[in-house]
Amino acid sequence: MFSLSKEKTFRGGVHPPEYKNPSKDKPFEIMPLPTRIIVPLSQHLGKPAVSLVKKGSDVKTGTVIAEAQGVVSSPIHSPVTGKVTAVTTSVNSSGFPKESIIIEPSENEEFDFLPILNHETITSEEIIERVRLTGIVGQGGAAFPASVKLSPPKDKKIDYIILNGCECEPYLTRDYRYMLEQPEAVLAGLQLIMKATGVDKGIVGIEDNKPLAIESMKKAAKTFNNISVEAVETKYPQGAEKMLIKALTNREVPPGKLPLDSGIIVQNIGTAVSIYAAVVKGEPSITAALTITGNGIKESKNLIARVGTPIDEILNYCGGVTDDAIKVVVGGPMMGVSQYDFSAPVMKATSGILVLTKEEVAEKPETPCLRCGKCVEACPVNLIPTKLARYSQLGKIEEAEALDIRVCMECGTCAYTCPANIPLVQWIRLGKKKALVAK
Ligand code: SF4
Ligand code: SF4
Repeated sequence: MFSLSKEKTFRGGVHPPEYKNPSKDKPFEIMPLPTRIIVPLSQHLGKPAVSLVKKGSDVKTGTVIAEAQGVVSSPIHSPVTGKVTAVTTSVNSSGFPKESIIIEPSENEEFDFLPILNHETITSEEIIERVRLTGIVGQGGAAFPASVKLSPPKDKKIDYIILNGCECEPYLTRDYRYMLEQPEAVLAGLQLIMKATGVDKGIVGIEDNKPLAIESMKKAAKTFNNISVEAVETKYPQGAEKMLIKALTNREVPPGKLPLDSGIIVQNIGTAVSIYAAVVKGEPSITAALTITGNGIKESKNLIARVGTPIDEILNYCGGVTDDAIKVVVGGPMMGVSQYDFSAPVMKATSGILVLTKEEVAEKPETPCLRCGKCVEACPVNLIPTKLARYSQLGKIEEAEALDIRVCMECGTCAYTCPANIPLVQWIRLGKKKALVAK
C-alpha cells in the first residue's frame, strides 16, 4: 500500500453542528415522475448547451435534447418521456433566469439510452467518450464536465485519484447513503476513473464522523490492493478539493493552480456512481441524488429525482413544509443558494434542498468588526477575509486583487466564524464578480 499523510487534516476551518440525524438513516427513495420538467440548458461550468428540440417535439427518456458547445460544455438529455411544451426562459436554482426546455411527462416511459458496455474490457478512450456523451458533470458543486477532468494535459503526471466522500456540509447525507447502499458501484466508478486516466492509485477520503460509511467502503475495497479508504478529520471545509488533498497526501495545491498541477484528480462519490451507470446501463445524466431535510420539512428524505423536477413538487412529496419554515436553500447551508421561486428545478449537480426554520437560520444583527482575527485564523486558504470584504464594500477592487481575492473559494468559513456577524463571504463574492468584470 502507498504512504499517505499522517495528519489527515488541514489548517483553519470550523466545526459547525452537523444536523445529519434526520436524514442519515433514510435509504434513497425514487421519486415518482413530476407533473412538469424544466431542464435548464446551462447546468454545468462552461458554455450552455444549445437546444435541439422545439415546442411540440416528442422525446424519450435519455434523448439528447441539447448539444454541448465546445470542450468545456455538456450535452443535455431528456429526463422523461413526453412532449416539449416550450423552449423559454425560466428561473433556475442559481436565482437567475436561464433558457430552459419545458417537458410534460407522459405516463408510458420509453428509454433512449446508449448501448451497454463491459466495464472490465472497456478502454480508456471509450470511458472518456461515454462520460462525454452521457453529459456527466462533477457532483461536488462546481458541475465541471467530468470528461474534461478525465483528460488531463499529456504533460501532467497524475499519480492519485481521490474520491471525495467527506460530505462536510452540514445536513447533507446523499454521498453517505451512496457509500452505505452502493459501495461496489462507487468503487467500480473509481476504477473506471483510474482506468480512464491511467492512474493506478485510488484513495477514498471520508470524514471520521461517518464510521458506518468507512466500514462499508473498507469492506468493499478489501479485494483491491490499489484502493485505500482513509478517514480524515471532521472539519468544514474538509471536502474542498485542496483541503482534502492536503489532508490525505500532505501536498499543497498552490493558489491559482489546479489539483492536477499537484498530480491529483479529485472526483465526487456521486460522479463515480454516475460514471458506472453510464457504462453498464448506458444511462445519461438524467437523475439527481438529493437530501431533503431541515426542521422546516415534514419528512426528511434522501431522494433520486429526475433532473428538472421543480422544488415545489419535491417539497410536496416530502409532506410539505411546516408552519414555521422561513427559508429554502438549494445545496448545503454553508455554500447553498437561498430560493425565492420554488418553481426552479433541481439540476444535475444539485445535492440537496434544505427547509429551515427561524431557530436554524438564527440571523443576528451585524456589528462593527472587532478586529479579533478569527476569520483570518479560520480561512483554509490563508486569506484576510476582513480586509477583502472591506475592500469589496468600498469598491477598492485593485487592493482586493492584490490580497488574492480570486483565491477565495467562497466556502463561507469566515462568515460562519465572525462574532460580529459580518456577511464576509457575500462581500467577497461580490468583490470577485467585480474583479472579473474589471478584467
Ligand atoms: S469564504 Fe473565502 S475568505 Fe472566507 S474562509 Fe472561505 S476561502 Fe477564506
Ligand atoms: S472575524 Fe469578524 S470581527 Fe473578527 S476580525 Fe474577522 S471580520 Fe472582524
